[in-house]
Amino acid sequence: MRIGIDLGGTKIEAIALDAVGNILIRKRIATPQGDYAGTVGAVAGLVRSMENELGRSATVGVGIPGALSPANGLVKNANSTCLIGRPLDRDLGAALGREVRLANDANCFAVSEATDGAAAGAAVVFGVIVGTGTGGGIVVHGRPLAGANAIAGEWGHNPLPWPRAEELPGPSCYCGKRGCIETWLSGPGLAAAFERETGERQEAPAIAARAAAGDAAAEAVLQRYEDRMARALASVINLLDPDVIVLGGGISNIERLYVNVPRRWGRYVFSDRVDTRLVPPLHGDSSGVRGAAWLWRGEHQPQT
Ligand SMILES: [Zn+2]
Repeated sequence: MRIGIDLGGTKIEAIALDAVGNILIRKRIATPQGDYAGTVGAVAGLVRSMENELGRSATVGVGIPGALSPANGLVKNANSTCLIGRPLDRDLGAALGREVRLANDANCFAVSEATDGAAAGAAVVFGVIVGTGTGGGIVVHGRPLAGANAIAGEWGHNPLPWPRAEELPGPSCYCGKRGCIETWLSGPGLAAAFERETGERQEAPAIAARAAAGDAAAEAVLQRYEDRMARALASVINLLDPDVIVLGGGISNIERLYVNVPRRWGRYVFSDRVDTRLVPPLHGDSSGVRGAAWLWRGEHQPQT
């Protein structure tokens, strides 16, 4: 049995999967705010209560909004700041008496979709979470690629490629730079583009609905958005050449992207044809927590 934990800033989700990926049990609790020891205790408590209810022990994988620094083994880049600088995998391992695997939440998303989701069986998968922010994760032959700096796949703070004159220098980003992909492609980035065009504040789903209803301004904004996503993903294809790109996050609900973005990316990819597929996620919001459980895929299973 595999337990997956999605450790978010406001809630902690947990599931237990059987050997073929069926969900045996699911739990959700509030994240103890600003309390590292409380967070470790809450995760350990969730694992124990699930094991008690099911009468079995499990492997444990945890997805976090950050990464373990390869240099010192401590959490970095986490927006839950109480985790930063902590050896979270070792502390959870000590609390649970076993090795605990930790990975970035976008990597967990990519692992989930590559294991038994929309990209099942694909050799190279780029998983992209486009929502409040823009994160990415790479899975090669079923395993997440962490990288020497634990930032593999983090394309959101690269500049938008092939920029047009009117896109320079681009919106300011919280990272200190301008024109980052995230400032264009995130949900807030789409809303800001619509506001610059129309003077009106609308969130991404409303913009998509208005375009579908024939609103010319919304349609124009979405077409520019699709071209930017095509450029951003074309630069990924040129570097990584994935078989499948899976979109996640709130933006992944805009169905026209799966047709219109691949229609546009051919003019930017350095190839006479592009066979990479752009697909919606199969597991939706559950992908992060499922991927955390699958961090132990194909490994030795204690007492399953
Ligand atoms: Zn940035």
